[in-house]
Amino acid sequence: MRNTSKMRKADIWSKDIVVQDCGGLLAENSDWEGDAGLLYMVNHVFDTNKALLNRTRPELRVDDIAFLVTAGTGRRAIAYARDGARAIIVEVGLIRALWTRAASIAHLPGVLANAFPIAEDIDQSWMAESCDSVPGMSDWDCSGDRAEYCVDLFLHMLEYVVVHEIAHHVRGHLKLVNAETGLHLIDETEARTSKTPEVSAAEGFLVQDLEFDADAYGLELSLAAMDEKHPFAMQWDQASATEWQFQLIFAQLMVAQVIDDARKADGAYSADGHPAPLHRAINYGNLVSRSLQDLVGGPLQAYVDMHAVAWSEAGYVAKGLSYPKGRWHDDHGKEMATGDYQLLEERYFASSRRIDGLSRG
Ligand SMILES: [Zn+2]
Repeated sequence: MRNTSKMRKADIWSKDIVVQDCGGLLAENSDWEGDAGLLYMVNHVFDTNKALLNRTRPELRVDDIAFLVTAGTGRRAIAYARDGARAIIVEVGLIRALWTRAASIAHLPGVLANAFPIAEDIDQSWMAESCDSVPGMSDWDCSGDRAEYCVDLFLHMLEYVVVHEIAHHVRGHLKLVNAETGLHLIDETEARTSKTPEVSAAEGFLVQDLEFDADAYGLELSLAAMDEKHPFAMQWDQASATEWQFQLIFAQLMVAQVIDDARKADGAYSADGHPAPLHRAINYGNLVSRSLQDLVGGPLQAYVDMHAVAWSEAGYVAKGLSYPKGRWHDDHGKEMATGDYQLLEERYFASSRRIDGLSRG
């Protein structure tokens, strides 16, 4: 029996109803070759993190999670389980959108202008909010260093998505959402739209708690994977820590902007209790900054300053791509009101405490 893992994966998942709803497995699609480069990169990000987490956190058993890229052109990423088999489903539409975002960053003169300056009159005729085909890097009219850095940011965006979905699995979130049917999924679109989650009133906080918790624990997984690769105690100084801090925060902000279809100007929580993408981003960036300062050390102000740089650069991206003023930029990048941090942080950890309580039963 030719029982390769690839065949098993296809056997188990290719006819699955949720996989089909997300467009079916991309690799079984006749014209998938146009996305071959993106497919390679996202699989590389998943495989790398899986291998590192297998070594450092074997008890999480992340090696049994199947990673499925589907042909759907939406922007869905889903943590999914069926009959005890675990999977992460990502529609290629999301990966294309993130790649397009990386290409946009490369071509916006006001962004990364100090580190990688480009001409104000760079050709932007190809730029689009979202594209059906992937703009090839050969068409990128900017320096190799700048292009390389933007590809690196793209990999960071993918990593944020991947570890977030892994976190939904290893934190047991699926069992909390829909324990009785045996079909569990958390659909990121549920967490960013105004749809009412199918949870009881008593559990009305659940969906937003799960998202905060997956962001926080996903970061913990990223830190664990990095520590396995480059131990914090041995190889890091403040400069390398704040450089990675920038990449993590900026990449998460790009994903949050990309999945924020509503493009609202305000930063408020929605009426039914879902966390606005902005609040997830505030919490995540805050946690990145504090975690890296804890792990690597150096004056807090250096991390506070880099946090501000990441938000400001992300603000210029939002402005350059014509997001309305308010939620993602204020015409001068974006400065966060730091007075809210303590309140938001309390909310963040309260979410994880509630999840812990539910998981313990
Ligand atoms: Zn999620």
